Amino acid sequence: MSFARGGVHQLDTVLLKVASRCNLDCSYCYVYHMGDEAWRDQPKRMSDAVVDQIAARLAAQLAVQEAPFSVVLHGGEPLLLGARRLERTCETLRAALPHPCGIHIQTNGVLLSDAIIDILVRYDVGVSVSIDGPQAVHDRFRRDHQGKGSHAQVSAGIARIMAREDARPLLAGVLAVIDPQSDPAEVYAALKTTGAPSFDVLPRDGNWDTLPFGKAAPDSVEFGTWLSGLLDAYLADPTPPRVRLLDDMLRLTLGGFAMKEGVGGADYGILVIEPDGSVEKNDTLKVAGSGADRFGYRWSVFEHSFAEILGSDEFLAYYRQQRPYAAVCAACPDLGICGGGMVAHRWSNARGYDNPSIFCADQRLVIARMRALADAANASQAA
Ligand code: SF4
Repeated sequence: MSFARGGVHQLDTVLLKVASRCNLDCSYCYVYHMGDEAWRDQPKRMSDAVVDQIAARLAAQLAVQEAPFSVVLHGGEPLLLGARRLERTCETLRAALPHPCGIHIQTNGVLLSDAIIDILVRYDVGVSVSIDGPQAVHDRFRRDHQGKGSHAQVSAGIARIMAREDARPLLAGVLAVIDPQSDPAEVYAALKTTGAPSFDVLPRDGNWDTLPFGKAAPDSVEFGTWLSGLLDAYLADPTPPRVRLLDDMLRLTLGGFAMKEGVGGADYGILVIEPDGSVEKNDTLKVAGSGADRFGYRWSVFEHSFAEILGSDEFLAYYRQQRPYAAVCAACPDLGICGGGMVAHRWSNARGYDNPSIFCADQRLVIARMRALADAANASQAA
């Protein structure tokens, strides 16, 4: 989590948009299907010159901030860089950012060949693969540009990592976008069969004006019901992997802390670097409308240090935006666990971000269930 030092915030996570295009065409993608066409103006791939400049800026930032941070190769689909550019990018970043800084890649998994895996092993790049569950659930939305499902290719990519002793430790987890019409127990079982040590789930994107797919009304609880089903499957599993969202919420329910943005009361220093070297806010904000992820000032790694960006009033306003300011959230007994949800999910055209999350009712349902479980556990311990 980020905190201010001398008025300047720290970096937690830097997402490098190393490729602006994708080899899949998932119908729910916030990059290409939320009305923001900015990706069309970006180079298809990040150039060596941009990577070199980013590495130099990040090394300088590491020297001045107290905590290490993570860099995530992101897209589009980052493996569209190709093997040569991927190797050079990883080599350059690793030279600038020794351990314990983490280098990760968030991939759709289609291009995970042994040659690519060799590179990821060489530079100790953690891998997270997007897969939505069993084939029928995954292929409903995660299709290629010809409309063909990608589950078989993604599963093969994950299996290729898991088959290699040197690569297996790199698989940090799998990431699933929730289809609230799917069976959460089936999704849990399918994600577990990947062998990944951890998985995470994301709700479908939306806001108060554009309801998330599968949500009938702001006060309906399709996602809360689905997450409660996932929680049941998780708690019934004698050998569970980690489930990041549920673990964070359970820890917060028990008075602990979260590890990632979206729940809880911690704030995070997250920046996105586009293929041309421009620096933007967390791109999940695209869900709030075209351009919502852009700073007013045009920051660029070629002209500005991270210290300048992190110390700017614009960054401070973006950083503070993580705290919900709707009156209903300020008075909510679940605020410490929910945190007001993802910023983009609070958006309405009428009130900006001055709303609770569009998933408020869902959050309350899951939190009530977790509180009841904690109370029951306490009661049985006391008995
Ligand atoms: S979004 Fe809803 S559950 Fe979350 S803090 Fe705000 S009022 Fe509470």
